[in-house]
Amino acid sequence: MSEMYDLAVLGGGIVGLTVARALAARHPDWSVAILEKEPAVGLHQTGHNSGVVHSGVYYRPGSLKARLCLEGREALLAFARERSVPVRTLGKLIVAARPSEGATLSELADRARANGVDSVRRLDAQELADRVPGVAGYGALEVPTAAIVSYPALARHLATELSAHGAAVRTGWTFERGDRDAGGWTLTGSAGRVRARGVVNCAGLQSDLVARAMGVNPPVQIVGFRGDFYELSPRLRARVPCLVYPVPDPAVPFLGVHLTPTIDGRLLAGPNAALALAREGYRPGVWEPRELARLALFRGVVGLARRYAALSAREWLRSWSPRAYLEAVRALWPEVRRSDLGPRTSGVRAQAVRPDGSLEDDFVFVRGPGALHVLNAPSPAATAAFAIAERVADELDALRPFAT
Ligand SMILES: Cc1cc2nc3c(=O)[nH]c(=O)nc-3n(C[C@H](O)[C@H](O)[C@H](O)COP(=O)(O)OP(=O)(O)OC[C@H]3O[C@@H](n4cnc5c(N)ncnc54)[C@H](O)[C@@H]3O)c2cc1C
Repeated sequence: MSEMYDLAVLGGGIVGLTVARALAARHPDWSVAILEKEPAVGLHQTGHNSGVVHSGVYYRPGSLKARLCLEGREALLAFARERSVPVRTLGKLIVAARPSEGATLSELADRARANGVDSVRRLDAQELADRVPGVAGYGALEVPTAAIVSYPALARHLATELSAHGAAVRTGWTFERGDRDAGGWTLTGSAGRVRARGVVNCAGLQSDLVARAMGVNPPVQIVGFRGDFYELSPRLRARVPCLVYPVPDPAVPFLGVHLTPTIDGRLLAGPNAALALAREGYRPGVWEPRELARLALFRGVVGLARRYAALSAREWLRSWSPRAYLEAVRALWPEVRRSDLGPRTSGVRAQAVRPDGSLEDDFVFVRGPGALHVLNAPSPAATAAFAIAERVADELDALRPFAT
């Protein structure tokens, strides 16, 4: 006998958990299951990120990223406050390493204001030196509202509350196949079958594969971009009072190697963005034959190589060579020494790539019969998760009744 639910959410990352919470709140009479393949929630992107609550500076005005980042941030801060989850508002400096980057800082300032982030302010070289002595720059954009949090801690709170309100948080349950009939979906997984009237796919790095296994031909393919972090030595920790970022490369949706204090008192440098040859490959050199085959068969791979070859080579080198990585850190903060690079950790971003090889720059939601697929939720999706959840709930409600 299969268990029967009104709603099944595939994936227990921060997006899946907030989606389950939003839909359970809208429909208190629904039975809800969160189906997660790992032994605990939040172990992939949610558990391997920079821990930054973004302010909404970078994103194209009018985009979902711009809107949902600001809305989600407010909801996240309120949730954290009510549950006493620690958040520290440290502010951020986006540093122009050379005079020519001043124009990009001005564009970012305009973009921030267009997105409703009015508190940004330009700093000159002296003000920058006063704020973070030793950081190399001709000026900076100050973003006072940037904050840090532990996303795994938020995910655990969400899972505990969902369970307390009657949702089934099933870990160790790997989705394998979905079959639809007039009554809804039969989801076949590693630990049995589950029936659900509606399904939301929030499987992050696996979301396109899950969509395919539910009969949807996704318009994009997920490609993993690994980001490596180094923990910097304790001698440097107290010297960085805020987040310090370079001016981003407008060609890609990654923010460049930056300095991030963490909520547990460490100081990280990173992440870079190297093509990952395994979707959950958390070390350079890890590869999966199946992922290589998927990349080889993907139409977009030629365009991807053509557009980003030089950038990919640089980011790969940073993955393999601590010396090359150090150069990127030193471009921001010249006094960091090789001996300051401590333990390395990594995360893999689930980045959707279009068939022409370009990187999808906004969140993507795709409707299928009785199901909604979240097919691009990279940064700032952790910040935006609570607002993404409301958006997903709107979309799913528009699909009702799910079963005919
Ligand atoms: C290096 C890095 C730095 C980042 N920094 C930031 C930041 O500072 N601020 C920010 O806002 N965002 C940041 N992000 C982005 C952010 O982490 C993600 O956008 C967010 O965590 C996405 O959440 P998710 O729930 O969609 O994905 P995930 O957290 O990856 O969750 C997906 C879940 O689905 C499960 N799953 C997959 N396949 C199956 C299956 N077949 N059956 C069952 N379960 C399955 C997985 O096990 C996983 O738990 C960063 C990301 C990375 C990688």
